[in-house]
Amino acid sequence: MWPVLCSIHLEPVIVFPVTLTLGSQRPLDLTFLEDAVTEIKQLLESGLKFDGRITGVKLRCIVCDAPAKAMVKNTKLFSAYYGCDRCEQKGIWDGRMTYQEVDGFKVRTDHSFRAQTQQEHHNGRTPLTELPVDMTGQFPIDYMHQACLGVMKKLLTIWTRGERGRSRQTMISIGQVDVVSARLIDLQKCIPSCFARKPRSLRQLERWKATELRQFLVYTGKLVLSGILRQDLYEHFLTFSVAISILLCPSLVSQHVSYAHKLLQYFVAKGRELYGPTFLVYNVHSMLHLASDAKNYGCLDECSAFPFENYMQKLKRMVRSGKSPLVQVVKRIRENQDGTTLQSIQRGNAISSKQPDNCIILEDGKCCEVIDKTENDYLCRVFLQPSPLFMEPCESSIIGAYVCQRLFRGKE
Ligand SMILES: [Zn+2]
Repeated sequence: MWPVLCSIHLEPVIVFPVTLTLGSQRPLDLTFLEDAVTEIKQLLESGLKFDGRITGVKLRCIVCDAPAKAMVKNTKLFSAYYGCDRCEQKGIWDGRMTYQEVDGFKVRTDHSFRAQTQQEHHNGRTPLTELPVDMTGQFPIDYMHQACLGVMKKLLTIWTRGERGRSRQTMISIGQVDVVSARLIDLQKCIPSCFARKPRSLRQLERWKATELRQFLVYTGKLVLSGILRQDLYEHFLTFSVAISILLCPSLVSQHVSYAHKLLQYFVAKGRELYGPTFLVYNVHSMLHLASDAKNYGCLDECSAFPFENYMQKLKRMVRSGKSPLVQVVKRIRENQDGTTLQSIQRGNAISSKQPDNCIILEDGKCCEVIDKTENDYLCRVFLQPSPLFMEPCESSIIGAYVCQRLFRGKE
């Protein structure tokens, strides 16, 4: 099934299908997009008429993973010599396609795309050019596929299983895999309930979902890898973790987006030194285009595939037998049109006096443990002198990572 999904950029985020196409193989051409393009065009030109009022509609962005993006834009795949959708650098074949430049490459623009100035990048025309959309900037790099399922999983795989033809110096031992796994499982009790999943063993890495890789990248990785991973590899991972942490937070993006970009440039260049030139595959290279998207959209979660991926799981559950799956999905969607589809989208950010939802950081940087809660007030213990977890590549307090002592300042 090839669904085109839409989300309205309001809180809570509501995802719904626009078109559903079914076939035994991937679509042979782009006709499956035409209905959606016609409808989007009408909406952009005439607005949405509802209850006698007309509401203007804007198209924010079109989110796809890399293979789908190449398909709908009718371009070469990321594994081709001119496969990067955001810059014109020619890849270098090294058993796999790699992109070795980290700086100074020519960035694609809406004009260069529509004029097909670099012909080698294009396979043909796409109906999407009929829309008033920036054919490069409004197709953001999706960090869910490329940073979480892409780069984070690649690093974990190199550390735990090594890479064909590469030295084993960047691997950790089986015993160390078990130590990291035990640390992850120990952290389960500390993961607040706003997270969809608790950490699980590295032995189940093949089954880790994008959200688990995100949690490892942004939160748990820096704790469980400390003292296990070779120090230079650990520090290299921290640059990636800090950069993504910045790009996920709107206020940090507004202050530190250039710094995050520099960290990602360092991450890619140093990655070549540590893991060899073949490390610089498209997913790793695309990290160089991530900061500009975070800047354009406010933060990476504003232009990611996470809400759509969650809806895909729902869509799968709507099919209960192999007979006429499309009919089944449409029936289920009709049944759910009373608004129940909104459920489970808003996961509580509830603070409570019970672990694991009892630790908070105040805006002034104070770290607190909630010990009692009334309707409007929290009774908290304040941790004394929280110190940064690390100082390189920057003081970790910037991204809200502290080490706290279990000493409290009287009864507050
Ligand atoms: Zn590029």
